[in-house]
Amino acid sequence: MRVLVKGAGVAGLTVAWQLYRHGFDVTIAERAGKVGTGASGFAGGMLAPWCERESAEEPVLTLGRMAADWWEAALPGHVYRRGTLVVAGGRDAGELDRFAGRTSGWEWLDDAGISALEPDLAGRFRKALFFRQEAHLDPRKALSALTAGLEEARMRFLFGAAGEPARYDRVIDCTGAARIGRLPNLRGVRGEMLSLESDEITLSRPVRLLHPRHPIYIVPRDKGRFMVGATMIESEDTGPITARSLMELLNATYALHPAFGEARLVETGAGVRPAYPDNLPRVTEDGDTLHVNGFYRHGFLLAPAMAGEVARRLLAEQRQPERRAS
Ligand SMILES: Cc1cc2nc3c(=O)[nH]c(=O)nc-3n(C[C@H](O)[C@H](O)[C@H](O)COP(=O)(O)OP(=O)(O)OC[C@H]3O[C@@H](n4cnc5c(N)ncnc54)[C@H](O)[C@@H]3O)c2cc1C
Repeated sequence: MRVLVKGAGVAGLTVAWQLYRHGFDVTIAERAGKVGTGASGFAGGMLAPWCERESAEEPVLTLGRMAADWWEAALPGHVYRRGTLVVAGGRDAGELDRFAGRTSGWEWLDDAGISALEPDLAGRFRKALFFRQEAHLDPRKALSALTAGLEEARMRFLFGAAGEPARYDRVIDCTGAARIGRLPNLRGVRGEMLSLESDEITLSRPVRLLHPRHPIYIVPRDKGRFMVGATMIESEDTGPITARSLMELLNATYALHPAFGEARLVETGAGVRPAYPDNLPRVTEDGDTLHVNGFYRHGFLLAPAMAGEVARRLLAEQRQPERRAS
């Protein structure tokens, strides 16, 4: 079966990877000149289904808990299994109890426990929640590595192109926010982020700082870089970060640790998360095309599960071609 995957964000690349593993003949068409120029390139890369359950439905946990294993099997060495630390400032300490009440898989830490994990946060917070089972990766590195692996496997990439669907048996559309207005009920949720560089502070794992209005997270990258995210704005605007959002993200980062006041601001950006009304991704059928969309805040977390779903459907069709006709 010849398959065209449209879109080389995290959805398209994981689908392509999964189909390649099952022996399908796959071509990837990406409108841009390289991979990861959509929402995927701005992501934190947190594989955090237990924390996300605070505001997400149960499938995010049940489908997302296998994500770290999937990424580690696909890209050995790219997944950091160091958990997530969740803290709140003195006046917002009640937020921690609220967060604990809506999630599972955590343990309470006191100041000594916090400093054992993150020495640079010693003395800054009286207590924290630690989600030991969570993991993270660097999205841009992961997407580049997946691409390199697929190219090595001789998969065809068509950059700057939409492909020619008529030449394929099946099209898997993974074009994310580009389908807003064309897939029923798909909307955009703008997420602004920034990157800081500092050699005065080290963090080993994602840290979430709770706040009633402006919760943030900081995800450490290599070479003293930190990704700080993210706003959640009901909008399809991909334009530059606003002054207000920049101030809010920087204020919260400074509240986490004043050393960030001396950090260099090396990048700002915004991506549009494609989302359905229940904020859960899905695979939908439209003639010869399967749409894989609606990843919302959970592209890296849930793309492996959705890629598995696509592979199962195509394998079933290959075994029983009449199933599709019915
Ligand atoms: C600031 C921010 C932080 C986030 N943090 C996390 C996180 O920590 N963990 C997590 O799991 N998720 C996170 N997310 C969510 C995640 O990034 C998205 O859910 C995910 O990127 C959506 O992936 P996608 O492949 O569907 O879309 P995209 O990444 O937007 O990819 C779609 C691709 O399709 C291409 N395209 C469009 N039209 C066409 C066409 N006609 N033909 C060919 N190609 C086309 C585009 O150029 C693009 O490359 C975050 C998102 C943002 C914005």
